[in-house]
Amino acid sequence: MSSGIEYVPVIGLEVHAQLLTRTKMFCRCPAEFGAEPNTMVCPVCLGLPGALPAVNREAVSMAVRLGLALGCTIENESVFARKNYFYPDAPRNYQISMYDRPLCCGGSLVFEDGEEEVSIGLERIHLEDDAGKLLHDRGGHSLIDFNRCGVPLVEIVTLPVIRSPRHASLYLQRIRQLLRYLGICDGNLEEGSLRVDVNISLRERGDETLGTRTEIKNLNSFKAVEAGLETEIERQRGELEAGGKILQVTNLWDAKEKRLVMMRRKEHTNDYRYFPEPDLPVLTVGDDWIEDERAKIPELPLERERRFQREYGLSAYDAGVLTTESNIADYFEETVRLTGEPKMSANWVMRDVLRELKTSGGDIGVFPAGPDALAGLIDLIKEGVVSTSAGAEVFTAILESGESAVDAVRRLGLEQISGEDVLEAIIDRIVESNPDALERYRGGKKQLMKFFVGQVMKESGGKADPVIAGEILRKKLDG
Ligand code: ADP
Ligand code: MG
Ligand code: ZN
Repeated sequence: MSSGIEYVPVIGLEVHAQLLTRTKMFCRCPAEFGAEPNTMVCPVCLGLPGALPAVNREAVSMAVRLGLALGCTIENESVFARKNYFYPDAPRNYQISMYDRPLCCGGSLVFEDGEEEVSIGLERIHLEDDAGKLLHDRGGHSLIDFNRCGVPLVEIVTLPVIRSPRHASLYLQRIRQLLRYLGICDGNLEEGSLRVDVNISLRERGDETLGTRTEIKNLNSFKAVEAGLETEIERQRGELEAGGKILQVTNLWDAKEKRLVMMRRKEHTNDYRYFPEPDLPVLTVGDDWIEDERAKIPELPLERERRFQREYGLSAYDAGVLTTESNIADYFEETVRLTGEPKMSANWVMRDVLRELKTSGGDIGVFPAGPDALAGLIDLIKEGVVSTSAGAEVFTAILESGESAVDAVRRLGLEQISGEDVLEAIIDRIVESNPDALERYRGGKKQLMKFFVGQVMKESGGKADPVIAGEILRKKLDG
């Protein structure tokens, strides 16, 4: 304890999300990712003289839906503004963004951290267009791909109210989940369709005055967000405890070296010389339009998570996993509808379906075993036709062949043996060939029951019904 002053972190996030519109924000070029460089461009997004922008209604609709889902006030009138700066990725030398009259104001994102309900207040959400992409170190040159120029972005800005790197990461995960539930952004941090800048300062505990903040960019994963913030908090703490001052800088996170690299002294707002975009009218979003968008909002992640606990008796953890993605939640709910078995369905989806998706890197939308196939398998297990362990094998077979559970069981001969005659014959053979074990069992070593059950399962190729086999065994051994 050098100074005796305790410092607490204050964090604010700016998230940029590329909207999944068909076309760009102010022109009709396709807003596609991965096309041949500089093929998706026109005079508007290249900023050629005289070209006039026109607002993409689909982008406005998406931003309104996002704002409503986050409880923001949707402004009936908002204003696009020019943010002037010179950089090679911006051919117009300005970005069209929103400044003092954004589309959405206020609102909050609520999530749970264990037992704690956390609410992160928002400052605003606004629309803007993306810059081009610089490709460095190409044969000693830097190249520019203007395809990304003009792709619609929403920027979601929090108040400086996040209290820990962990909450910053959870907030980002939940924003990503919400964007995906709404179907308005694919949320790919590595490819940059979702980007985050974090702002961090320390304040003295008990003193509400905010300290000078620094900004970190280039955070391409949830882990990077946490690690970058931890590193910067320690650096600022060290600086302050040594009696130093914090400079308002922008740092880049180097994920390989796990360190921060100073990029530039922070520019100030007035450097951008914001002014209302003269080529666009005031953006008018009437109440009818807002209500149309409200009607399109699906059940949101947190509501769905809580309903899964209530309606299906799932644990908080299971409900969280099953609602991570809306299509997985849909898959689960359809399986429950077909089987009437929430717990069993949850186990199968979480263990087998999710594991398979993870290893195959696949999308549940094109998963070879749909809810009907899984439900068929769960029914067979419930009816005692196949054992749980054989079920895993059946599931793999369904994935490979696309056949139904019944067909797979028949083809692989995996019907559970529950016929007493057959089981008795197997058990007699085992008891006969293990006289030592039998004697010790009868002498009081009852744990050997497990050994005998194991032998029965082995002998039957895992197909013996364990309950019935256990009953017969007990009769024979004790008899
Ligand atoms: P800029 O326009 O420079 O990006 P903003 O005022 O829009 O700055 O704030 C950007 C982000 O920084 C917001 O998320 C805000 O909550 C956060 N922020 C502002 N001041 C502080 C501070 N002192 N400490 C931490 N975060 C801050
Ligand atoms: Mg900013
Ligand atoms: Zn264009």
